[in-house]
Amino acid sequence: MPIIHHTRARCVKKCVFDAPAHVYVYFPLPICYNSYGMKKTAALLLVLLLAVYLLPAKGTKEAQDTGIRIMATIFPEYDWVREILGGNPAGMKLSLLLDSGADLHNFQPTADDMVAISSSDVFIYVGGESDEWVDDILKRVGSGKMKTISLLDILGDRAMEEEHDHDGHDEHVWLSLRNASVFCTEIARVLSELDPQNAQLYARNLDSYLKKLSALDAEYSQTVENARFKAMVFGDRFPFAYLAADYGLECHAAFSGCSAETEASFETIASLSAKLDELGLGCVMAIDGSDGKIARTIIRNSGSQDRRVLVLDSMQSVTSADVKAGSTYLGIVEKNLGVLSEALN
Ligand SMILES: [Zn+2]
Repeated sequence: MPIIHHTRARCVKKCVFDAPAHVYVYFPLPICYNSYGMKKTAALLLVLLLAVYLLPAKGTKEAQDTGIRIMATIFPEYDWVREILGGNPAGMKLSLLLDSGADLHNFQPTADDMVAISSSDVFIYVGGESDEWVDDILKRVGSGKMKTISLLDILGDRAMEEEHDHDGHDEHVWLSLRNASVFCTEIARVLSELDPQNAQLYARNLDSYLKKLSALDAEYSQTVENARFKAMVFGDRFPFAYLAADYGLECHAAFSGCSAETEASFETIASLSAKLDELGLGCVMAIDGSDGKIARTIIRNSGSQDRRVLVLDSMQSVTSADVKAGSTYLGIVEKNLGVLSEALN
């Protein structure tokens, strides 16, 4: 307490008043007040105390900790939530599950991951073949406790069939800017439901993010429209089916989707090298995390050695270090646009 009541005798050194009892105030300045000064002092103290007690209270309201936990499996989901939360006034805790560079096709959660997911209020995942482990967790947690967002469920009929796989959907749904708009809208809806107090803020953040997504989408359309070629050869896995579909790009790849295969047959190489010559393309594409070996072999077997390997980032190997270093979904999509423009011209 800043106020100490005492007799005159005990503060005789500092006290200039004659009154027998008074108040010594340490805060804000160590001044001694006699009983006649008490009314003014009390008023001043009241104001100061109110200020002291109200400031943190106001701060708490601005950065209230709702304790809401959000777990996103892959980087794009994580980044979208981050964009919609903006300044995150509700102090929601957002985590990225696949943050070590392992892609979703090879991921199996550890016991710690299971606990972290189970204690989330919102769980965002792709919901395809690679996420079969999610069913176990959802059964364990039980319905109603956790809000779940499955990207493939949101797309519904708009999800693309995986080539050569009749029951599976292509899981790389995040590589379409148009899909991203749909996902962000749903994420904002769920966040607003959990935290209605800040719903307006989430709506504003969503709105400005959707504008950026649609501006980039228009740039992609423009780039493809003005491009010399409308085709690409991938000497790699092919997670870009959604992107190719959005802009009407003809793509030929060594493997469909994200096949676990790593060696292409001679037949595949030969047919892609022939395709490269036939289309007259100057580049062969590879994806993030690839060693580019198949792409180089395709060039070696083609009619011109004067071709380059270009890398498109499928965001399947973004790490927590990349996140810390400032990687964003929009940044990567923008960088990919530059690569695409180079590949098509
Ligand atoms: Zn993949």
